[in-house]
Amino acid sequence: MFDLTDNKVMIDGNTKVCILIGNPVGHTLSPLIHNTLASICGHDLVYAACSVNPGKVKRAVEGAYELGILGLNVTVPHKIEVMDALCGVDDIAGQIGAVNTLVRTDHGFKGYNTDIYGLERALLSEGVSIEGETVVILGAGGAARACAFLCGLRKAAKVYILNRSVDKAEELATAVNNYSGYSICTPLPLDKYESINEESFVALQATSIGLYPDVNRAVIEDEAFYKRVRFGFDLIYKPAETAFMKLVRGGGGECACGLKMLMYQGIAAYEMWNDTSVDDKQAGIVYSVLTEAAYR
Ligand code: NDP
Repeated sequence: MFDLTDNKVMIDGNTKVCILIGNPVGHTLSPLIHNTLASICGHDLVYAACSVNPGKVKRAVEGAYELGILGLNVTVPHKIEVMDALCGVDDIAGQIGAVNTLVRTDHGFKGYNTDIYGLERALLSEGVSIEGETVVILGAGGAARACAFLCGLRKAAKVYILNRSVDKAEELATAVNNYSGYSICTPLPLDKYESINEESFVALQATSIGLYPDVNRAVIEDEAFYKRVRFGFDLIYKPAETAFMKLVRGGGGECACGLKMLMYQGIAAYEMWNDTSVDDKQAGIVYSVLTEAAYR
């Protein structure tokens, strides 16, 4: 455990261990999230990051189980490959088709997707609830899948999924419509945003356009689109203010970046591993530590 008050690391034979697997992992902020949580929650736990090569994920997860690792996070590019190494996959993670959190059971690790809960808690912290909303999702990759299934799970009124490759938007819309049991999602090519009828909506930016260092681009650059964005959430967290966010603000809407989503997906994993609940005050401490590290 890392003691924030006097910068001491105290690890002994009882210290629980959690890890991140991905490739590469050198840039990750996850150890900061979890080691800060362990410190402020008073848990004897350390969290480290391990690079694992593609094709070796099953062996790594089986080894982690035998070593008594309490829980794992899984990041790019292993969120799909890891599913072969598990004793079970949570229903919504299976629907999304990606696992980012492994929880230890008596029979092996079970897989979950906490991106969806991270997104929900980040939106709620900004005063945005998905229920009954019209939502426009930009993108149809892994992150957009979590956005779309959150809309299905929390019963958005209407969801438009816009993507450069429209076949991926169509596949995702069909999957969420089947999951929800009603026709909630409409797929559209990226350049057909003018066919959205609603005058006001929440926009979730889930493409990789605008990510550092390509900070001056937004996936849609037409100011007329942004006049209708009541709240815009960019899943990208670097830079802190993306070109998408500037356009939302320019159109009169409110916005936030993806740093809180990153934090809350970690908090959701931490809560599962430790059978605990992290309150707003504790999350606030983690957020200030994370902000300082992400933007220094
Ligand atoms: P994917 O590679 O799975 O998806 C990328 C998406 O961006 C696709 O929809 C793709 O469209 C689109 N895209 C890429 N290049 C272009 C382009 N030139 N023009 C138009 N569209 C383009 O990535 P992820 O879904 O995993 O991640 C997307 C973003 O979300 C990343 O920036 C990532 O950092 C962020 N993210 C943030 C998280 C957080 O906790 N804050 C969690 C997860 C992701 P197409 O299908 O046509 O290729």
